[in-house]
Amino acid sequence: MPVRATKRGAERTPFGSGARYDVVICGASFAGLAVARELRASRARVLVLDRYEIGERQTSACCAPTSWLVNLELQGAIRQTFESMVMHTVGASVRWDLPEPFSTFDYRSLCELLWAQCGDAEFETAKVDGRTGSVVHTDRGDVEAGLLVDCLGWRRVLGGEGEPIQPPEATLSRGLEVHPHGSSPDLQLWVDPRYVPSGYGWSFPAGSELRIGIGSYDPRFHVKEPTVRLAADERRPAERYQGNWIPHRFRDAVEDGVFFAGDSAGHCIPMSAEGIRTAWYFGIACGRELAAVLAGRQSHEQALERYAAFHEEHRWKFEWMWLNQRAIRHLHGRPLDWLARFTSRRRVIHYLFRKYLNVAPASFALPAPPQVRAALPVAA
Ligand SMILES: Cc1cc2nc3c(=O)[nH]c(=O)nc-3n(C[C@H](O)[C@H](O)[C@H](O)COP(=O)(O)OP(=O)(O)OC[C@H]3O[C@@H](n4cnc5c(N)ncnc54)[C@H](O)[C@@H]3O)c2cc1C
Repeated sequence: MPVRATKRGAERTPFGSGARYDVVICGASFAGLAVARELRASRARVLVLDRYEIGERQTSACCAPTSWLVNLELQGAIRQTFESMVMHTVGASVRWDLPEPFSTFDYRSLCELLWAQCGDAEFETAKVDGRTGSVVHTDRGDVEAGLLVDCLGWRRVLGGEGEPIQPPEATLSRGLEVHPHGSSPDLQLWVDPRYVPSGYGWSFPAGSELRIGIGSYDPRFHVKEPTVRLAADERRPAERYQGNWIPHRFRDAVEDGVFFAGDSAGHCIPMSAEGIRTAWYFGIACGRELAAVLAGRQSHEQALERYAAFHEEHRWKFEWMWLNQRAIRHLHGRPLDWLARFTSRRRVIHYLFRKYLNVAPASFALPAPPQVRAALPVAA
């Protein structure tokens, strides 16, 4: 699979004045690469920007439904697959049989595999500082595009003056994990106030490493000490840290002509903090609207309206999960132990999980956008 080289060091020259593209996608992680992949048949000039090289900075524990990885042809990045999940509360440890397997994957490999599916899109490393109209300001100068997409994560850099999103006041959760070497057969969750009063802990094995962390729905609660403690309880060293803020409220998907997908639009599911498949899901939806604009089948305005409508159709599901997130923090002790045991019944967990998976079903990734074949060289 060819992986195109990206610019480093001295090659990182300023963008020329008047740098103009059909589409500029800011952010080259799950959402941004999903948008770019949908445009691979368009033959449009597409530029993807990120402050880091593609796949350089892991942004999560990298666990997603296996069906999504298969439908996006990303199996090569899978490190471990799980048919069940162990759930711990203070008084109960139960095993949830999953109706569909989940897999952990290697972030760099996955991003490289996705990028290899993005056709002729160009990539540049640049820090995005903001936007004026259709011009994106970066530390390498300005870039202009007819269509702009913000896949920059929770900071939503291309947004306007709207609601502030600054921790710890904003509606953000806090996540931190360590990546010790080692292995385990089990995907594990802890809903246990001894680690975090409102949130959960996890241990996600990925082949030869474990991703052990704590997520707090309360952005003021510091998660480093309990993360170290959970790792120690699992007899693992706290090494190779990775953390970020996680948005847990739905935001607007379009603003001032700009499209937002993934964490920038609050597409991470509240309560579970699962945001990879939803970043793909809404990234694909956004990419399909952009592809229709580039093909002349609809206007920019129509694409904004259609994408915003698609996003709004999902609002109640995210709001429902947010209500659950708020409720679960009041549930401790015996009622929580009972809930864990009740949901460990196969029929119950299958029913609940299927509903949950339907928030962003893997079938949405199909059919894949057609590949554009490179033109054959003309014989002399
Ligand atoms: C500790 C932790 C563990 C998690 N585990 C899971 C999990 O196992 N499964 C799951 O589904 N979800 C998980 N999540 C949530 C998931 O990581 C996010 O929802 C997901 O990464 C969102 O994808 P995205 O593409 O929208 O944004 P991101 O993955 O955050 O990508 C944003 C991109 O924009 C770039 N960027 C940001 N600012 C700038 C700038 N100013 N200029 C240029 N580039 C910029 C970044 O470098 C990055 O590449 C976890 C989150 C955390 C914090």
